[in-house]
Amino acid sequence: MWRKFSRDLVAITEQLQPARMTRQAGICLDMISLFLCEERCRYCGGSVESALLHSRDDSKLMNGSFRNACLCSECTQRLHENCQTLWWLPVSPPKQGTRSSTTIFPVVTAGIYQGPLRKLIRRLKYDNDRLVVRDIFPLLLKTKEVLQSVWLDGASIEHAIFVPVPLHPDRERKRGYNQAALMAEQLATEIGARFDATLLRRTKRTRPQFGLSKLERQENVKEAFALSLRSAGELGPIILVDDVFTSGATLSECASLLTAGGAAFVAAIAAARAPFRSDA
Ligand SMILES: [Zn+2]
Repeated sequence: MWRKFSRDLVAITEQLQPARMTRQAGICLDMISLFLCEERCRYCGGSVESALLHSRDDSKLMNGSFRNACLCSECTQRLHENCQTLWWLPVSPPKQGTRSSTTIFPVVTAGIYQGPLRKLIRRLKYDNDRLVVRDIFPLLLKTKEVLQSVWLDGASIEHAIFVPVPLHPDRERKRGYNQAALMAEQLATEIGARFDATLLRRTKRTRPQFGLSKLERQENVKEAFALSLRSAGELGPIILVDDVFTSGATLSECASLLTAGGAAFVAAIAAARAPFRSDA
C-alpha cells in the first residue's frame, strides 16, 4: 500500500518534469522521490543505491537527477548490453479506394524481450510502475542513429511526429495510461520532435497478440485502428512507437493507415523484440 502510494506520488512528480517546473523545484521533488521511492532493483531485488541516475553518462537526460534508478548497476549494465536491430516490414495492403506506393518500412528495436528489459516492460504494463520508463528511455534513445541512417534523404528525424501505437480506450482507462505513449512522449521531447497521441485510435478491442499464430495476429489487428479525422491530407514523416515487437502485425496495420492517409514516410521504434530460440 505504502509502496504503491510512493510510486504513484513519484510518477506524478515525474510527469510534471522537466518542462513545467523550475530546476530547483525539480531537485526538491527528486530528493523527496529518492526518500520515498522503492530502493530495490526491479529485476534482481538487490540494492539500487549504487545506481543513482546522476552517476550515469546520460545524466543530462534525467534532469540532473538525484532519483534512484529502477535497476541495480549490474542489471543496468545487462540492460545496456542489448543491441539495436533494424528490420524492414511489409506495410499491410491498403484498403480499397486508397492508394499508397509504400510497400516496406523500417522498424528499429532497442533490445530483446528478456532479462531486465522484459521485467521493466512487464512492470510498466501490468504493475502500474511508470517509473521504469526512465530506465528504458536511454535504450530507446540509442535507436536514433540507426533510424537516422535509413531516414529520408538529407532530412532529420527531428521533423517527424512521434505517434504511439494506441490502446483501446477501455484498456487505457483501466491501466491509467498508454505505456507506448509514455515512451513516445519522452523520445519526442528529448529529440525536439512533435508528439501526437491522438493521430491514431484503436477502434476494435483486440485479443492480446501473445500466443497467437502469425496469421491470427494479422486477423486480430486487421482494421483495428483508425486515423483521426483532422489528419486528412499531408501528414509528414511519422515515427510509430510501441513496447514489444513480435510479428510486426500491429505496426504493419498502423503503417498502412498512415501511408494511405498521406504520411510522407513511416518508421517505427519498439523497446524490445520477441526473443528467438538462438537468443536463449
Ligand atoms: Zn538488479
